[in-house]
Amino acid sequence: MATTAFALDEEQQRFCARVREQAVERLLPLAHQDDPALGERVNRPLLEEMGQLGLLARLFPGGGRSAAALDLCLLRESLARVSTEAETALALQGLGFYPVVQSGSEAQLARWLPEVASGRAVAAFALSEPGAGSDAAALALEAKPDPEADGSAGSGGWRLSGEKCWISNAPEADLYTVFARTGPDGGARGVTAFLVPADRPGLTGEPLDMISPHPIGRLRFDGVPVGPQDVLGEIGGGFRVAMRTLDLFRPSVGAFAVGMAQAALDAAVAHAAAREAFGGPLRELQSVGHRLAEMATRTEAARLLVYAAAAAYDANGGTGEAGLHGPTGRAAMAKLFATEAAQYVVDSAVQLHGARALQRGHLLERLYREVRAPRIYEGASEVQLSIIARELYR
Ligand SMILES: Cc1cc2nc3c(=O)[nH]c(=O)nc-3n(C[C@H](O)[C@H](O)[C@H](O)COP(=O)(O)OP(=O)(O)OC[C@H]3O[C@@H](n4cnc5c(N)ncnc54)[C@H](O)[C@@H]3O)c2cc1C
Repeated sequence: MATTAFALDEEQQRFCARVREQAVERLLPLAHQDDPALGERVNRPLLEEMGQLGLLARLFPGGGRSAAALDLCLLRESLARVSTEAETALALQGLGFYPVVQSGSEAQLARWLPEVASGRAVAAFALSEPGAGSDAAALALEAKPDPEADGSAGSGGWRLSGEKCWISNAPEADLYTVFARTGPDGGARGVTAFLVPADRPGLTGEPLDMISPHPIGRLRFDGVPVGPQDVLGEIGGGFRVAMRTLDLFRPSVGAFAVGMAQAALDAAVAHAAAREAFGGPLRELQSVGHRLAEMATRTEAARLLVYAAAAAYDANGGTGEAGLHGPTGRAAMAKLFATEAAQYVVDSAVQLHGARALQRGHLLERLYREVRAPRIYEGASEVQLSIIARELYR
């Protein structure tokens, strides 16, 4: 591949090829994708294998104190081309633990980073609630001051009461980054982030059954004690912790979508060459060729937007110029375009395959179910459009 301002350099290309190879040889055999009942559970052997391969450690460079958005995107795109299950397991580990990387104390990092980076402990990010999804600042999980709930620090703490919903890796995770209301202020103010180990008394949950096998569930907090040593960042600064995490992960949701789109495109190109109809291969039909060309163009455009957004994030550590070409504007455009493009590409690949793509267990049957959720989570497409418009007007 030629190296231009908009292409990966040779080392990055080698890295992607190596991750894809490792995924085929070491991760795919551990994936549960053919068994929906198992796919809904956290796949611990798969996560531990990713720990052994050093893939999880790449999520937390700099001793767990920095973040590399482009690296994260390359990992997610490369894994998604081979196994969406492996991709999702890696991404959720990153999403769940990044608030600790970004805002945790040295003690929190020392306690959990080795466990999370090795895949021995499973992390989860608990922001959404039944009444607070896109409008996350409406969250209602209550953190009520309670001097008795101080853990070992001896300076008073809180008890968490309420519910979180659609939390990936719940209820099986070992630690949750939880966003709760510590102050009387409404909206984003008065929210504090906590690191809550899963064995705290009063924390229970149950799994939810989704269209694609995804470990996800509901959490109930019934007076769960947390102390000052469990706070991530500053008291009252929790919404910012959540938003900074999502700023890093948003382009990488686009990368996940690009990986799925590429897998669907590869399958469609191969099928259109092999399938005979009306006296020749399908791809000789002009409308088929045009559809493949459209799929390839949208996939490549999505990839370039994702790389540009990740590079903009890395250039300034997630801060930087406002406006359409700053990290926020670029991340929103990348997530919006890539997830919508992947939906089109996967649907087109199903169409070009005909009935066989709809048989249970077919790659495209799985991708068709898998590709839907990223247009909703971490900011629905409509929310991304609002962000883009806001940045455009600056
Ligand atoms: C597979 C999956 C995994 C998830 N994992 C996690 C997780 O690990 N942690 C976590 O905290 N949450 C998680 N979520 C929850 C996810 O973040 C929410 O679903 C998302 O924020 C949207 O919230 P909602 O579903 O309540 O939809 P709502 O907020 O009710 O929105 C419904 C629809 O209304 C429209 N809409 C909403 N706001 C606007 C707007 N401002 N302008 C225009 N239209 C709008 C959009 O079409 C949107 O899709 C996950 C969800 C899924 C599907």
